[in-house]
Amino acid sequence: MLLRNSLESGRIHSAYLISGAGDRPRLAATEFARGLACAGDAAATKPCEQCAACHRSRDTAEEVEIDGTGKHGPLYRHIGEHPDLFWTQRGAQGTRVRIDQIRALQRAVRVGANEGGWRVAVIADAEWLGQEAQNALLRLLEEPPDRTCIVLVSRSAAALLATIRSRCVRVAFPAEERIRLRAPDLPEEFGELVARLDAIEKLGLPELLDWAEEYRGNRASAAAQVQSLLEVGSAWLRECVTRCVHAGDAEVRAELDALHVLSRCRRDLIQRNANPQMIAERSLFAVREAVSR
Ligand SMILES: [Zn+2]
Repeated sequence: MLLRNSLESGRIHSAYLISGAGDRPRLAATEFARGLACAGDAAATKPCEQCAACHRSRDTAEEVEIDGTGKHGPLYRHIGEHPDLFWTQRGAQGTRVRIDQIRALQRAVRVGANEGGWRVAVIADAEWLGQEAQNALLRLLEEPPDRTCIVLVSRSAAALLATIRSRCVRVAFPAEERIRLRAPDLPEEFGELVARLDAIEKLGLPELLDWAEEYRGNRASAAAQVQSLLEVGSAWLRECVTRCVHAGDAEVRAELDALHVLSRCRRDLIQRNANPQMIAERSLFAVREAVSR
């Protein structure tokens, strides 16, 4: 794949955006960062796991817990104990990746590379970057320090500013297997929606509210987006039902209830001019509820 090709050819871009659900995007980012730091001879087998750099970037027994406020833990950590490999993500208690975390990374990568090779900064949970943090990140992407690579990991690429996306080489992992919509020609934007739905059971109330808030503003365009959400959400739920039944699990009441809510939401949106953000809230809660049993 693209990251492997980059390592093998040595043509490293200054920024990558790895998107998709599940753990694979994070694992890919880690391996890529370790591969960039690896001092092994064979480009095809980086990280080689033999050299000193690979030893340093290996998982440490104890993972440092990151805190976005910097009060209860650091704003970022290293990958393993490698001084040139940095990692940040949403703090355990946080709802956002915060601007201070981006600034701290920015300072870290501007300091000369300790080992003389690449510096890599991975920003996981990039879909949780707030507006300010995205603007700070944008400045970093616009003037990348020498031999520095920024790797964003996000469930959904659509959650990021277009100006950020356009500065990154994109690597998209398909949605994980739990649910896959059957429509073979699903446009990319819907693929991202499906990936977000796949992860909905991990979201709490504030995160669902944030999601619904994306459908604020101009009613016509917000309503059109919510209509897509309702359509994709219904297809997603129907797929859940099919899978449950195939797996011999006849308990699909919750999914059917949620489907019912979605169809009422569609009616309210179209026939009663209901507020798109409110409709999005109602339907996201219903879907979340259905999968949380
Ligand atoms: Zn190595």
